[in-house]
Amino acid sequence: MFSACYIGEISRFARNDMLLSLFTRPSTLGTLGTLNFRHFLKMITFENLTKIYRGIKAVDSLSLNVPQGTIFGFIGPNGAGKTTTIKMMVGVLQPTRGKIYINGLDIAREPSKVKRIIGFIPDRPFLYEKLSGIEFLRFMAGLYRMKENRLDERIADLLSLFELSDWGDELIESYSHGMKQRLIIASAMIHEPKVIIVDEPMVGLDPKGAKLVKEVFKEWANDGATVFMSTHTLALAQEICQKIAIVDKGRIVASGTSEDLKKQAGVEGNLESIFLKITGGQYPGENV
Ligand code: ATP
Repeated sequence: MFSACYIGEISRFARNDMLLSLFTRPSTLGTLGTLNFRHFLKMITFENLTKIYRGIKAVDSLSLNVPQGTIFGFIGPNGAGKTTTIKMMVGVLQPTRGKIYINGLDIAREPSKVKRIIGFIPDRPFLYEKLSGIEFLRFMAGLYRMKENRLDERIADLLSLFELSDWGDELIESYSHGMKQRLIIASAMIHEPKVIIVDEPMVGLDPKGAKLVKEVFKEWANDGATVFMSTHTLALAQEICQKIAIVDKGRIVASGTSEDLKKQAGVEGNLESIFLKITGGQYPGENV
């Protein structure tokens, strides 16, 4: 027996994938059409997402949509609820209330399917230091049950993209902090996810590494991946995010493009001035 809710679930998923295949076929609309229409597809949706820890509302009725192919910035002061939100998106924490849909899939009902289409880059990643870079990428590919054919090629491409080709056979314990961070990002991409969820992407990267990662994110988004990024680095968010949500005390207090945020804050200037105005003067990196 199909309940209305179940039919709603199917049609939501089918609609997104049908539109995706239609609009990403170059012969249908050409490149310009692809870029324009892609942005109508909701890749991430929160509906009244709420998390309460022992009476404390860490995340309070968040609702938002992130279109496909967008780099989305999720910023806020310490304790605003960013990491809690990300943990719910990747299935580490259960929401107290509300829903998260990724590519139309309800993460509470289809966690395995969702995990197959997301790549997660945590703020404090764990690496098996006694493995080489190649062994670690093979291990990650195994978790996603990737097929052997073309895996060597995929690993070689990722090592090259992240400038780690000369280090693939070396143990991770000999890598610098920045190299480990680049390897983690490469590992999150191994299965070509549709959505990349990143908590503080630039930790430990030198300026060259940071530039490389920014270029990679932009390229992924151009190719249709959606990047959901939490960061304290406002200059980074301003530079690469097409849309931003500012969260404070678990709630979204402003969201949209830079222009939308300026209007909502009633200030001209950069994201830092907007952020300070909206959150009452507290910079995201400051301790509360
Ligand atoms: P930061 O920028 O400092 O990383 P954040 O925006 O990621 O902060 P969260 O770590 O999500 O914020 O925390 C949101 C709120 O939830 C804070 O008040 C925090 O103290 C509380 N919190 C987080 N984890 C737990 C937990 N396991 N138990 C109880 N309270 C928690």
